[in-house]
Amino acid sequence: MRIAVGGFHHETNTFAPSKADLAAFTTPGGWPALCRGEQLFAATAGINLPVTGFVEAARAAGHTPLPLVWGNATPSNVVTEEAYETIVGQMLEDLARIEAPDALYLDLHGAMVTEHLEDGEGELLARVRTLVGDKLPVIVSFDLHANITPEMVALSDGLVGFRTYPHVDMAATGARSFRFLKRLLEQGDLTHKAFRQIPFLIPLTAGCTMIEPAKSLYNHLGKLERAHGCELSFACGFAPADIYHCGPAVVAYGPNQAAVDDAADALEADVLAAEAAFGSRIYSPEEAVTFAKEEARILGKTIVMADTQDNPGAGGNGDTNGLLRALVERQASGAVLGLLIDPESAAQAHHLGEGGVGRFRLGGKSGLPGHAPFETDALVVKLGDGAFTCTGPFYEGARMQLGPMALLQTGGVQVVVASRKTQAADQEMFRCLGVEPADRPIVALKSSVHFRAHFQPIAGAVIVVAAPGPNPVDHLKLDYKRLRPGVRLMPGGPLSA
Ligand SMILES: [Zn+2]
Repeated sequence: MRIAVGGFHHETNTFAPSKADLAAFTTPGGWPALCRGEQLFAATAGINLPVTGFVEAARAAGHTPLPLVWGNATPSNVVTEEAYETIVGQMLEDLARIEAPDALYLDLHGAMVTEHLEDGEGELLARVRTLVGDKLPVIVSFDLHANITPEMVALSDGLVGFRTYPHVDMAATGARSFRFLKRLLEQGDLTHKAFRQIPFLIPLTAGCTMIEPAKSLYNHLGKLERAHGCELSFACGFAPADIYHCGPAVVAYGPNQAAVDDAADALEADVLAAEAAFGSRIYSPEEAVTFAKEEARILGKTIVMADTQDNPGAGGNGDTNGLLRALVERQASGAVLGLLIDPESAAQAHHLGEGGVGRFRLGGKSGLPGHAPFETDALVVKLGDGAFTCTGPFYEGARMQLGPMALLQTGGVQVVVASRKTQAADQEMFRCLGVEPADRPIVALKSSVHFRAHFQPIAGAVIVVAAPGPNPVDHLKLDYKRLRPGVRLMPGGPLSA
């Protein structure tokens, strides 16, 4: 088979401070920069990405992937119309150039909102269908945080979702998408589909598959697949998106309508039964620091804090400083926080040099209401160029280019400053500046869940902290206007309208 392969990722938090413009896709950061043609294969090789898993599986089975375009930007507010139209334009141009492909595989996120569209992926698939017609098999892999729309289901032949959060199975999902395509073409028994939307939003930190209830839900999903002879996916959705189809959903594919309906109903029932369990203890910054200092002392192990409300992986800019202030004010000696995304402070540190001391204005520069830089004297402990390769299970193989970095110390607290926005989900982000996270009593991370893949094994405890930021763990604080009626904003909480 000759299989056209492309990808376009964005997870849109419509409440976040900054938009994703074309530069957000063309500048390399945690993932490769926008790439096209043969460069797509080189740029994504060896990385835990869906496209990589699909291409490897297809080639191993003797098929030929044909590259289109692949692009990703860090989660943020909407994708600009210019960025969307440029990348989709390239995608369709490249697809039109391929003569009679046997199938199309797209590596999409599934939660893209643009300046001009509520459903970026649905519109992309509609344009693909206009170009290639209804006959070409179109298989899409999607993130566990997709907000799946009826259009995405209707316009594709298969939606195949991640089953882990932290997403350690991105490449595996790509490989599974290839097996889906193979089964569809060889056995022809995945032609019926079912789609169920779940009527409550799941907080990001509660969807982690290393803890309950998501752990058991995804385990059971595999059993339901085997019992019903179907392919199943469950997306937890991405809650901070004020769109009509925001929220979790179930999709099923199988040999007949009764089988897929039964399988989808069974999985939907599992999720509904777990609603009350999708909640977890959230600490204020002050409570968190007090708890962590004491717990680290008792356990003699690292206490890891998730500064979830400023998670760049959920649209934050990674520059709020509420938790940093609490660590400094409460004298959490030995603690380290990262990554604070602040190119200005990184440049200042490089200007001062290692061992230099200066007056810094740390973070708080995104223009979020109520946020301001944290003015403090700090020592430049170590400098770096932000180029290193990740080794943890989530970012495995990712060749980071985070720009000038610096390890600063204020009071007894250290902070890892980087120039380009990336989620703190890999220990190499600290080691590149000489910090071994396991040696620290407290490690505070701008991440919601992905960090757990690499940091949970060294942690005496992991706690979730609600320091000020644009990604509230409590969705009741978000002003939804477009969400469809009948959706509960929190598990067991009040309705959207
Ligand atoms: Zn995700």
